Amino acid sequence: MELSKILADQPAYRKKQIQEAVYKQLISDWDEALTLPKDLRDTLKTEMPLAIPAEIINEGRARKALITLNDGLQIEAVLITNRDGRHTVCVSSQVGCPMACTFCATGKMGFKRNLTAQEIVSQVLLFARELKKSEDRVDNVVFMGMGEPLLNLYSVLETIELINSPEGLEIGARSISISTCGMPEGIREIIEFPLQINLAISLHAPNDELRSELMPVASQYSIKEIWRELKNYLAAKKRKVMLEYVMIDNVNDNELYAEELAGLVAELPKGLTMINLIPYNPTGKYRPSPKNQIQKFKQVLEEHGLEVIVRESLGGSIAGACGQLATKK
Ligand code: SAH
Repeated sequence: MELSKILADQPAYRKKQIQEAVYKQLISDWDEALTLPKDLRDTLKTEMPLAIPAEIINEGRARKALITLNDGLQIEAVLITNRDGRHTVCVSSQVGCPMACTFCATGKMGFKRNLTAQEIVSQVLLFARELKKSEDRVDNVVFMGMGEPLLNLYSVLETIELINSPEGLEIGARSISISTCGMPEGIREIIEFPLQINLAISLHAPNDELRSELMPVASQYSIKEIWRELKNYLAAKKRKVMLEYVMIDNVNDNELYAEELAGLVAELPKGLTMINLIPYNPTGKYRPSPKNQIQKFKQVLEEHGLEVIVRESLGGSIAGACGQLATKK
């Protein structure tokens, strides 16, 4: 039953009390919502259960949750604690993924279905409840788990409004990032979206030929088309965009590719890009680039005056690192 129906005969302030209990008190059982009358709590218990069935596996500063959805399908969400103590939740937007990138474990499991906004919010709530035990909170949310967020954009944007709102988790828009393979029409919708969220593009290659070997979507949309939308995005939002580039040994990590990438990035407004080199996390097919090769690649980009950071990889041994999320169900 929908909340509006449950609350039909209740005074108007009940909704606020419920939001307060769910998003501020972070209750996991309606009996903890002491501001609500007992009969309403009982209805909520059966109609809107708060428990999120999940199995949590820890590895140092990474915690992976395997969440079972109402229909029995499973998704993963990861909590990463940065060195500075900030907490980032990496959420899934779909069960599986239709993009089929050759280097990604989620891509191999195929696509099952889109997640609802509530199912995405639950992933953040789960870790928010965990963190509350040590009086901590979720600082950042990144749509970098399973799935392609731009193919489920309606639910993703609804989630962002919910977790950002004063009645919700109050996570700042600037602390929320969407990572995408770069569907131009999705980028157009993000330009229209009023909140100042961050955008990351999974590029992984400096030309369409190499890119289509790694990402089937590249034969549908050229880098040129993506760049056209990115320029519009940057003109409208003036927010730095992140360009992600997974470093795969002998595939895309040659310095000549770094030169080509620098040329490509130079077409975008100066100072509004940041290149994020991601050490490849093994998923079967390829080998990771050696550390010194990543450094050489980085150096070429920096010589062209570009901002580059190498992503720290966490969660590898629990298969919770970038591109390693896959479930059996
Ligand atoms: N579909 C979206 C969201 C996934 S984000 C996207 O493609 O952006 C996850 C990030 O990790 C993406 O940049 C993705 O390309 C990258 N990734 C995928 N497999 C990886 C792997 N095996 N090692 C490192 N990064 C990987």
